[in-house]
Amino acid sequence: MTQKRILVTGGAGFIGSHLCDRLIADGHDVIALDNFFTGDKRNVIHLMDNHHFELVRHDITEPVMLEVDQIYHFACPASPVHYQYNPVKTIKTSVMGTINMLGLAKRVRARVMLASTSEVYGDPKEHPQTESYWGNVNPIGERSCYDEGKRVAETLMMDYHRQNKVDVKIIRIFNTYGPRMAVNDGRVVSNFIIQALQNQDITIYGEGSQTRSFQYIDDLVEASVKMMNTENFIGPVNIGNPVEFTILELAERVIAQTGSASKIVKKPLPKDDPTQRKPDISMASRRLDWEPQVRLEDGLVKTISYFEEVLKRRN
Ligand code: NAD
Ligand code: UDP
Repeated sequence: MTQKRILVTGGAGFIGSHLCDRLIADGHDVIALDNFFTGDKRNVIHLMDNHHFELVRHDITEPVMLEVDQIYHFACPASPVHYQYNPVKTIKTSVMGTINMLGLAKRVRARVMLASTSEVYGDPKEHPQTESYWGNVNPIGERSCYDEGKRVAETLMMDYHRQNKVDVKIIRIFNTYGPRMAVNDGRVVSNFIIQALQNQDITIYGEGSQTRSFQYIDDLVEASVKMMNTENFIGPVNIGNPVEFTILELAERVIAQTGSASKIVKKPLPKDDPTQRKPDISMASRRLDWEPQVRLEDGLVKTISYFEEVLKRRN
């Protein structure tokens, strides 16, 4: 392995911090850029003494000058609660942030990989979703700042590639969970676990018949690193776990695995909430020789014990 200098945007966030761990373990020099909107220094505190690691407070809507070989471009709030808090900022992060990272990649001839999302498929009419599906996204809804932001980010990646020969890659990440999700993240897995551990009501939005497919963080990190280091493959490629659950099934599983006394309560379904989602991962399996390894029940065990620790520290 040749040692590389690698930039991780969103490096103090949930996924970004796990990527930093992996890249440091692989022997690289890592720079994490983060504005700490949803990220936290604590996610990378264990790396601070490592002279191969640097953490820089920076907002990617502003340009940055660095010398790097690879860019994992992951900065963007990902939970609906967070990306809807300041929707204009969310779309600026996706659009201006991606332009800035592409400009940097162009200048220093770095390879850049975008963390795109299954949300580009919107409320999908095709099931499971393949990469060739163009999606069913509401352009003016409350999720649009995120969904359309990522769609434009993908467009920018492809245009900088065609126009400026920038070495780009795109992964479309499906629902991913694990340790270091923020306690106030608001996404379903962390919400249910935190509620269950405190014997609070489990909040199902709608009837709980909507589906998602949950990928454990380690599987995503492995796929991301493989994708970054695969030649002649731009993507976009779906990265997710194809085992599909209803939200009600997830709630029941979390209650069972935590031994919680929580009850399930139903809350209104947010607008434009996709009714079903499940990745077709045949492209990833063929081109990256990758398949997820971690079953939901095993990933939940690790995530539950993480949140047990976090809650203990807070009490
Ligand atoms: P997260 O909110 O934990 O991490 C996002 C990080 O980006 C945070 O550290 C945040 O502070 C930082 N950030 C946000 N705006 C920034 C800005 N303008 N400048 C600098 N830093 C900024 O979320 P996550 O789940 O780790 O998501 C990481 C990436 O993966 C996002 O791009 C997200 O869209 C993508 N993704 C995640 C999932 C998932 O299920 N977790 C699914 C699809 C796509
Ligand atoms: N959800 C829920 N209760 C919660 C949080 C989310 O029922 O406390 C539902 C949400 O409406 C959606 C699914 O769980 O149908 C996944 O939501 P999440 O925010 O995790 O991700 P996304 O909707 O972006 O896939």
